[in-house]
Amino acid sequence: MDRFDVIIIGMGVGGEAAAGRLLAAGRRVAIIERELIGGECAYWACIPSKTLLRGPEVRAEASRVAGVATPAIEWPGLRDYHDYMVRHLDDSAQVKGYEQAGATVIKGPARIAGPGRVEADGQLLEADHVVIATGSEPLRPAIEGLEQVTVWTNREATNVRDIPPRVLLVGGSAAGVELGQFYLGMGAQVTIVQRAGRLIDREDPRVGGLAEQALAGGGVTVRTAVTPVSARKVGGATVVTLDDGSQVETDVVILGAGRSPRTAGFGLKATGVQLTGRGGIAVDEHCQAAPGLWAVGDVTGVALYTHVATYQGRVAADNILGRDRAASYQGIPRVVFADPEIAAVGLTAAQAADRDINTATAEINVADSVDRSWTYERDPRGAVGLLADRDRGILVGAWAVAPLASEWIHYAALAIRAQIPISMLLDQVAQYPTYTGAYLAALEQLSL
Ligand SMILES: Cc1cc2nc3c(=O)[nH]c(=O)nc-3n(C[C@H](O)[C@H](O)[C@H](O)COP(=O)(O)OP(=O)(O)OC[C@H]3O[C@@H](n4cnc5c(N)ncnc54)[C@H](O)[C@@H]3O)c2cc1C
Repeated sequence: MDRFDVIIIGMGVGGEAAAGRLLAAGRRVAIIERELIGGECAYWACIPSKTLLRGPEVRAEASRVAGVATPAIEWPGLRDYHDYMVRHLDDSAQVKGYEQAGATVIKGPARIAGPGRVEADGQLLEADHVVIATGSEPLRPAIEGLEQVTVWTNREATNVRDIPPRVLLVGGSAAGVELGQFYLGMGAQVTIVQRAGRLIDREDPRVGGLAEQALAGGGVTVRTAVTPVSARKVGGATVVTLDDGSQVETDVVILGAGRSPRTAGFGLKATGVQLTGRGGIAVDEHCQAAPGLWAVGDVTGVALYTHVATYQGRVAADNILGRDRAASYQGIPRVVFADPEIAAVGLTAAQAADRDINTATAEINVADSVDRSWTYERDPRGAVGLLADRDRGILVGAWAVAPLASEWIHYAALAIRAQIPISMLLDQVAQYPTYTGAYLAALEQLSL
């Protein structure tokens, strides 16, 4: 039996972050991956979706800039660049890289065989620590007849070869909105069906309202507070019936109705670890689930983002290396790469109310106070909202629906994480002209 310091099950971004740190510290590491090293993000999620979105985004941007002719999208070129960015679904360079870094790489499904014991590829491995980084899988909503029609998850939707004329997105959160935005930009007729009463429903209602306005303005049909109940083929088309009796005709149904932590099928139950209400592996602030057993990334269900998986991977590795480190989830940004971008951080007003925080809010239109918005595009779009804790004089939440919001949300993220006094934020100077200047305008509107 081979013995290691650490065995990592699953080599998405969470597993990779832990592996990199442990190998750099000279630990004996075995990494086990049943598909491709890099996981969902690298091949079927963040990287392909952002690569694909960029073409339509540039075209839309150009059409909003004075004196610029609208460029054409050349789909084969964009598709080829996508294929390059997802490494042509080949991880042989990653396998080689890890082997050169000293890891033992096993390609195949792993199974926990007991405390500190893992089986993979017919071998039994032993280690002081096991890190579970098995990610998540798409939820499949109960829609009658779904197996008889063309259904894509994020995998098929990001690896598309020919753009279908019509798509129906089930789910109006990040994945549904981003994929809808892409297909819209590629000329498809797009319908988003969202069970909640608004899009991006985990954020403040204004965020969902602005997102819907932007998508509907671009031509997306947004249906909220409805659920698909059945799907059937009629001729060459798919007809989806919603629970209000209405019907939507489409060519493809794309599932973007959330994901669940991947906790089944690899012997986790026998370890006795607890699952959280969200179905993820319950971990403490060190990312530890049980003595010698760690979990990082989507499988914890804490927040299904690459930056959170990477962070947890680093936190778990540091603790394994004996560097006491607790994870903090305050100030973690949440972004939807729509057009314009949607970014939020900290608490929503409803969450603050649940915690009995005495809040003040402010909202501004960037066109009224941010000169960059006018130099950037002809008819400036965008709004920023702030949520402050009056008693402590700090920000506890922020959102922005505006160009490049994914980049400048970090100003608010750091302010929230570090609990920077609002008096200091009011005295802070931002580069002119930038969208970051919107914060000062919004801060000045807070009545504390
Ligand atoms: C369409 C879409 C777009 C997204 N865009 C963004 C974005 O822009 N920014 C962002 O922050 N997040 C984004 N996300 C979320 C992001 O992709 C995930 O949070 C991230 O990939 C999670 O990483 P992970 O390492 O936890 O899991 P994964 O990437 O899922 O990796 C888990 C790995 O474990 C392997 N595995 C599972 N079981 C076993 C087993 N028994 N044995 C061996 N290997 C196993 C799997 O094969 C997989 O490779 C997006 C998600 C989707 C669906």
